Amino acid sequence: MLIVMNHNANQADIDAIIDTVKDMGFTAAPIPGSERTAIGVLGNHGYVDDSKILEMAGVQRVIHVSKPYKLVSRDFHPEDTIVDVAGVRVGQGCRPVVVAGPCAVESEEQIIRTACFVKKAGADMLRGGAFKPRTGPHTFQGLREEGLRLLALAGKESGLPIVTEVMSPDNVGLVAEYADLLQIGARNMQNFDLLREVGRIRKPVLLKRGMSATIEEFLAAAEYILAEGNEQVILCERGIRTYETATRNTLDLAVAPLIKELSHLPIMVDPSHATGKRSLVPPMSLAALVAGAHGVLVEVHPEPEKALSDGPQSLTFQGFESLMEEVRRLANFLGYA
Ligand code: PEP
Ligand code: MN
Repeated sequence: MLIVMNHNANQADIDAIIDTVKDMGFTAAPIPGSERTAIGVLGNHGYVDDSKILEMAGVQRVIHVSKPYKLVSRDFHPEDTIVDVAGVRVGQGCRPVVVAGPCAVESEEQIIRTACFVKKAGADMLRGGAFKPRTGPHTFQGLREEGLRLLALAGKESGLPIVTEVMSPDNVGLVAEYADLLQIGARNMQNFDLLREVGRIRKPVLLKRGMSATIEEFLAAAEYILAEGNEQVILCERGIRTYETATRNTLDLAVAPLIKELSHLPIMVDPSHATGKRSLVPPMSLAALVAGAHGVLVEVHPEPEKALSDGPQSLTFQGFESLMEEVRRLANFLGYA
């Protein structure tokens, strides 16, 4: 429930509402706005009787929010959230960011070469999996802590903040020691213990959409992180499973503008996992930015044909360089400084 105050309501009116909400057994979250204050009501598990509130001084109206998310919604938080990843700002009004790197960290040479190349070409962050959520157990599972160490080394060498996936609640502390941005992968979007655990740290989180998740489920998953106190969340559309098999997944680009209507959190797009095909990554990266995404996440490998995972969707160095030229041209056209 959201209690919207009149623009001339005073502090005493607001305090009285907060006390009443508390007396009803709920938590009150005041949301000051430029025009008027609203007060979010948290902690209810169903419809709340609003008759008492509606009679109180300064109240304009009450909005019943029936969605399973509140803290991530625009109703509760009208201003855009900007997430700061070790100095790189992500969100509305910021220049679109490009996160690039291999699917997995494979060796010191591979990750440092890639880091230095993508940095030179204009990437804003370096990605690389150390804990890999692979479909089958007989494939490369990642270098684990050694992978984190190598990724951090490459981040230092190149000067890029680093992004890597955390798969289990037990490893959140370890991954947070190395990563600037912790990724929750599609397969773990509804791992609620993991979501709660990253909600308790003070580092930004990149939450990928589950492969069969609705937008409501996606936002409800983000709500778990915010509910634990971590508001530094970037959402990421990475394609969903449909009947189509010509592409690895189906990129649901309408999510970018839709999320911006529903939520204040930044939204990025991963065209690599969405399409599974190198040739489709550049056009869909540009399409994502035109659709209003705050950035893209793309896989890049020095020798994609030798990659231990996701080679077919990884850009070559040359492919990445030309994508960056197009991204720069587009960002300039869209008016970013
Ligand atoms: C990845 O980013 O390498 C990855 C495994 O992505 P997703 O969780 O979207 O499949
Ligand atoms: Mn991958």
